[in-house]
Amino acid sequence: NTKPLTDLEIAQEVELLHIVKIAEKLGLDSEEIEMYGKYKAKLPLNRIDKEKVKQSNLILVSAISPTPAGEGKTTVSIGLSEALNRIGKKTTVVLREPSLGPVFGIKGGATGGGFSQVLPMEDINLHFTGDFSAIEKAHNLLAALVDNNLQSKTNNLGLDARTISLKRVMDVNDRALRNIVIGLGGTGSGIPRESGFDITAASEIMAILCLAEDLEDLKKRLGNIFIGYTFDRKPIFARDLKAEGAMTALLKEAIKPNLVQTIEGNPAIIHLGPFANIAQGTNSVIATRMGMSLSDYTVTEAGFGSDLGAEKFLDIKCQSAGLSPKAIVLTTTIRALKYHGGAALNTLTTPDVEALKRGLPNLEKHLENARLYNITPVIAINKFTSDSDEEIEVIKKLAEKMQVKVAVADGWAKGGEGAIDLAEKVVEVVEQSLGEFTPLYDWDMDVISKIETIAINIYGAERVEFGPKAKRDLKNISNLGLDNLPVCIAKTQKSFSDDPSLLGRPTGFTLNVREIEIAAGAGFLVPITGDMMRMPGLPSHPASENINIDNEGNISGLI
Ligand code: ADP
Ligand code: MG
Repeated sequence: NTKPLTDLEIAQEVELLHIVKIAEKLGLDSEEIEMYGKYKAKLPLNRIDKEKVKQSNLILVSAISPTPAGEGKTTVSIGLSEALNRIGKKTTVVLREPSLGPVFGIKGGATGGGFSQVLPMEDINLHFTGDFSAIEKAHNLLAALVDNNLQSKTNNLGLDARTISLKRVMDVNDRALRNIVIGLGGTGSGIPRESGFDITAASEIMAILCLAEDLEDLKKRLGNIFIGYTFDRKPIFARDLKAEGAMTALLKEAIKPNLVQTIEGNPAIIHLGPFANIAQGTNSVIATRMGMSLSDYTVTEAGFGSDLGAEKFLDIKCQSAGLSPKAIVLTTTIRALKYHGGAALNTLTTPDVEALKRGLPNLEKHLENARLYNITPVIAINKFTSDSDEEIEVIKKLAEKMQVKVAVADGWAKGGEGAIDLAEKVVEVVEQSLGEFTPLYDWDMDVISKIETIAINIYGAERVEFGPKAKRDLKNISNLGLDNLPVCIAKTQKSFSDDPSLLGRPTGFTLNVREIEIAAGAGFLVPITGDMMRMPGLPSHPASENINIDNEGNISGLI
């Protein structure tokens, strides 16, 4: 039988260490952690040590513009972290929690792959310690309070229901709930209005919890959620509904990061997961700080390419939390570069040096983007079995030309052993780093200039066009005094532009901003370009069709 093992089969063969043993590696004793069974635990917020965070080394894993399958950031992050531990650097990998949307949809889970995985993968992928459920409850409580207020005779704030953009959320891809009418059934059953469901990862509360410093800060941010306007144009926030106390109470466990382990028994912290195309795409500030407080190296991932996750990580999260990454690992695959060079999706496993060369400008631009922040990039070629030596040479030549370190990362096939070269190169970059990280823009710039700075410098756009709705939104933002918030641009991950069909390194294009949403609680503005999906749908044959469990509780078919 030569059939390669699936990720789940590899995961199930590993003998897990008790979570107390993993906590010990971080200097925590069993009394300090809150155990969720034998292999998962919540970490105590009082172990965040701001002084240690300043000295610790943060490494961001980003990627070139991905194909629909994902290019392996999580897999590379885990493999790199195993390798750093092997070469004697005390390292923790800090990742996002998977959403059930992709688990049951097309992509599958988000716990890495091959011999670079975090465990127990079944639990992490299947609603884990309940953080997403808590976010869903807090979000839906707020939504219920809004509709209750519309109904109320004695406590009515006078909200104009047509200005309310808050929807309900749930963590399943369910397109039938995208647009719905609520409040039907007569006078006792609410005020009828158009609404809908978003997926939980798209909830503003997910974004808020990821940026919150502690419970007090969380409460303040939740109170700042913008709900809509009254008929006489007075803005209404969640605090006007006295919602933030109860919402924060529901989130008291979800605010604590989760400890699990890698295949090689190293610590992994997994916490929350906003999407990177519509939100900031990275785990919580609390989780990142926890990793840095408890180890010397922290490896973390930000969703999609340098244009989305990395830009938002650096300009929003790092600025907000005062973090300063010392290296950016750019996950690169030969298959994606060939795709950018015009090769069809179904031919990507066939060697094609010419298509690869045509795709290189995409990689070049992502490398240049890292340097715009004064952070040194390292190329990690995430090795697939179909990669030819000749193709790998082409990338190494480009690296030489651009004076960037490059390593083949084979953590997928070999675990930490396969990423030692990458780890050594990353350590060299970290040790040479003077901590000169500089954000791309100043939050105090006006909103239009902030969007243009990102579009022109990071995306390579020629200009930015603001539609009529976006122009009205700009005025509202100004009237609300929110011009000094950073911008979290919602854009497709498939292209540097807002047109998913423009692959490679497009130039001369216009970025079209349709509207600008206010995420006053999270503390950013969301300029929307193109059609962004906040409630994805399932494919005709969802991944859920293959998932099963036997009478002993063994799960199969998870990918
Ligand atoms: P990302 O974090 O960039 O979305 P993942 O690390 O989740 O990507 O990987 C996406 C999928 O590709 C996973 O199913 C993973 O098992 C698979 N994968 C990643 N790296 C490799 C590799 N080198 N060879 C084969 N499959 C891989
Ligand atoms: Mg990932």
